[in-house]
Amino acid sequence: MDVWQKELIIGLLLFLAVSVVGGMTGLFMPLALVLTLGMLMHQLYQINRFERWIRTGGRAKYPKTSGVWEEIYYHVYRIKKNEKKRKKKLGKMVDQFRQSTEALPDAAVVLGANDEIEWANKAAREVFGLQQSDKGQRIPNLIRFPEFIRYLKSGNYSEPVILPSPVNNRITLAVRIIAYGAGLRLLLAQDVTQLKKMERMRKDFVANVSHELRTPLTVLKGYLETLQDMDDGESPLLTTSFQQMQGQTERMQHLVDDLLLLTRLETQQKKTECINVPALLSQICKEAETIHGKASASSATAPALLYLPHPCSRAHAPYLHPVGNLPNRIEARIELSLESDVNIMGDEQELRSAFTNLLGNALKYSPEDSVVKVRWYRSNDSIVLDVEDQGEGIAAADIPRVTERFYRSEVKRIKKVGGTGLGLAIVKHVLMRHDAKLNITSELGKGSRFSCHFPAKRVCH
Ligand code: ADP
Repeated sequence: MDVWQKELIIGLLLFLAVSVVGGMTGLFMPLALVLTLGMLMHQLYQINRFERWIRTGGRAKYPKTSGVWEEIYYHVYRIKKNEKKRKKKLGKMVDQFRQSTEALPDAAVVLGANDEIEWANKAAREVFGLQQSDKGQRIPNLIRFPEFIRYLKSGNYSEPVILPSPVNNRITLAVRIIAYGAGLRLLLAQDVTQLKKMERMRKDFVANVSHELRTPLTVLKGYLETLQDMDDGESPLLTTSFQQMQGQTERMQHLVDDLLLLTRLETQQKKTECINVPALLSQICKEAETIHGKASASSATAPALLYLPHPCSRAHAPYLHPVGNLPNRIEARIELSLESDVNIMGDEQELRSAFTNLLGNALKYSPEDSVVKVRWYRSNDSIVLDVEDQGEGIAAADIPRVTERFYRSEVKRIKKVGGTGLGLAIVKHVLMRHDAKLNITSELGKGSRFSCHFPAKRVCH
């Protein structure tokens, strides 16, 4: 029998007793009133006791009682006890989490919706010079680097921002923000001083070695030319040796030039001016005309046909990617189609280098009677340069890798095509410095299309 049934039976029995006694004495109504009042008082007393117990937190053992009220006390007490256990467990977990985040070598700061500091670990306090009392302060008031404030405001946290530590400028930090929850953000800062130092050492090393190799290479080339001039052709072995030596020194020269160019792209500030790209593209072709005298004039609107036996000359532009490893004559036909006369902000030498590389590759990896299409046009919110060829194409697995330094895809070619594997790395770097993207679509045996997408914000007049 459960407690409710028990309570009901007691109530009924009491009512029965009152009815019997009331019937015998004729005092039913006063007795019923006394019973009701008694029961009411009892319930009020129980409620009062319960309220007092719960007001003190319900932590102490509940008062001795019986019936339904004992059940109520028991259940509330049990819920409270479980809650206490859960809280203790949660507290332990939070403590463990705090201890582990405190021990993290990376700085971590929890930011609120208004950029205020909610919590920071030990590393954050050290590298940002934060105090316990800075809790609730807005972080831009404490880390005042303009690039950090711009990053914080931008809302685009896909890439980290590199900053010196506000308390020690010899420490370089890679700061990244991760958004989570409702308006909360986690700021993580990693010490990349060593990494940056190594990177700088690598850049310096490549730049120095490339620079130092230039002089001996020039001397070698000079002597080789003299020796070739002196060669009377009587010894075929000597003649081929000279040719091979010349080929290899040229290859080395191209490598050195490309490495120096990449170093310049990584380290130098770019000049930004309004570049007349249609004129630049026409000029790249005209330079070929100057050297080989085979190109026809291009038009500003109608597609023009250009025969470009050799895409460019390094003598005219120091930034141009070497294409000297090309076969001597390239008979691919170039269609230059200038569908827009839009100009863009950028560095002319860099853009010239990137465009020449793309055109040079298209010609290099194309069969003799094919067409290479060069298009300059507007597409939705970007301005595009397409260089499309009908050449050997690139395997799908190689496409993501061709812009890596020294990566050359292994295609069985009828003729051996020389190259340094640095051309597309240069293109990628130049485009990155112009907020542009490179899209590569290609199919083996059918051809490739390299599209450079410049954002509309780069358009100038
Ligand atoms: P390089 O041409 O000097 O080898 P690049 O960086 O310019 O170096 O190109 C990397 C590789 O990408 C090339 O070796 C070649 O396999 C592939 N590639 C580049 N452009 C084309 C193209 N238009 N058609 C086919 N393959 C290409």
